Amino acid sequence: MTRIHNFSAGPAVLPVSVLQQTAKAVVEYQDTGLGVLEMSHRSQPFEDILDSLQSRLRSLLDIPIDYTILVCTGGATQQFSVVPLNLLGGKTGGYILSGSWSEKAEAEARRFGNTVVLGSSKENSFRSLPAWNIPESSDLSYIHFTSNNTIYGTQFKAEPDTGDIPLVCDASSDLLHRRIDVRKYGLIYASTQKNLGPAGATIVIVRNDLLEREKGTLPIMLDYTTYSSTNSLYNTPPTGVIYMTERVLAWIEEEGGLGVIAERNQRKAEHVYRVIDDDDFYQGHAERDARSIMNVTFTLTNRELEKQFLAEAEARGMSGLKGHRSLGGMRASMYNALPEQAAQDLAEFMRDFRDRHV
Ligand code: PMP
Repeated sequence: MTRIHNFSAGPAVLPVSVLQQTAKAVVEYQDTGLGVLEMSHRSQPFEDILDSLQSRLRSLLDIPIDYTILVCTGGATQQFSVVPLNLLGGKTGGYILSGSWSEKAEAEARRFGNTVVLGSSKENSFRSLPAWNIPESSDLSYIHFTSNNTIYGTQFKAEPDTGDIPLVCDASSDLLHRRIDVRKYGLIYASTQKNLGPAGATIVIVRNDLLEREKGTLPIMLDYTTYSSTNSLYNTPPTGVIYMTERVLAWIEEEGGLGVIAERNQRKAEHVYRVIDDDDFYQGHAERDARSIMNVTFTLTNRELEKQFLAEAEARGMSGLKGHRSLGGMRASMYNALPEQAAQDLAEFMRDFRDRHV
C-alpha cells in the first residue's frame, strides 16, 4: 500500500484504520451476511450505527441533553438556507463575515429574509477576523459566524459573545478539532467531508428551543422538526457516510479523545507555521493572531516558483497543496486524520525547497 500525504481541503484524508474497516464492512458487516451499504436504513444494525454516531458525538463534545443531533444532507451549503428558514421567525439574521463561506451564508439568507452584516474583514482580503457589533435598532433572531475559514486560513480562537442572541456556527472545517463548549451555541452545523468522514451528510447540533420556530410551515426536508421527530430517518439517509462517520468518531476515542487530537493538531500547524515565519521566503496569508490550525495558507515571495513548488511536493508524495482557486498560492489542510509525520515532512520539504532557491 502506497498512500501519499493528503493535504486536500475536503473531501480529505481519513484514518487508514477506518478505511480498512469500511473495506471489510462493505462486503460483510459484522455477522449480518450483508454489506453495510446494502442494509435497510430501517434495520436494527443500521439503527444501532446511527444511535452510536449520535452517542459518540454527544460524549466527545459533551453535548447537553437539551440539544438534538440531526443528520441532514445537502451539505453545509443547504444549511445556508435551512438555518434562516427555520430560525429567522420574521426577525433579522446577524452575520459576521470572515470569508467567502460566511458571505455565501449571508447572501442566501438575504434571498428570503432580513439580514444585517455585523462586521467583515473583506477589506483586508480576510487576513484577519472582523471586529463586529450589534446595531442598536436591530432585532436579531441569531448571529451566524464561520468558525474556520477554509479558503483564507483563519480561525476564531473563541466564540463571539452574543449574549442572549443564539449563536449559529458553520463549523464545517473545524468541528472536532478540539473541545468546544456547546452551551455557548444555539446551533452548530458541519458537513462531514473534513474532520468527520466522507462527503454526503451534514451534522446539525441544535438547542431544542430553536427547533420549532417554523414548525409545519416549511417544505418537509427543510424543516428541522422532520429530522428531530424521526431520529433523522424520515427518508433514506446516506447510510454509508453515516457508517464511516461513526467509525471516525470511534477512532477519535481510540486515539485518546479530543484533548489528544487538539494537541496533535496544534503541533502539526506549528511545524508548518514555523517555516513560514523563519524568513521572507514564504508569506502566510492570515495575520498571526487569526491563523487557522486546520488550513495553513501561504504564498512564495517569488510567486514564479509556486508551480515548481507544487510539482516537487507532488513528486515527494504530498498532494492537495494548491490553494483555493479564488486565492491562489498554497494551502495545507491538516485535518484530524492527517498524521503528524505528514506535517513534519511538509515542513522539511519547505525548508529544503527554500534552501535551494535563496
Ligand atoms: N462552509 C465551510 C466553512 C466550508 O469549508 C465549506 C466547503 N468546503 C462549505 C461551507 C460548503 O460545504 P458543502 O460543500 O458541504 O456544501
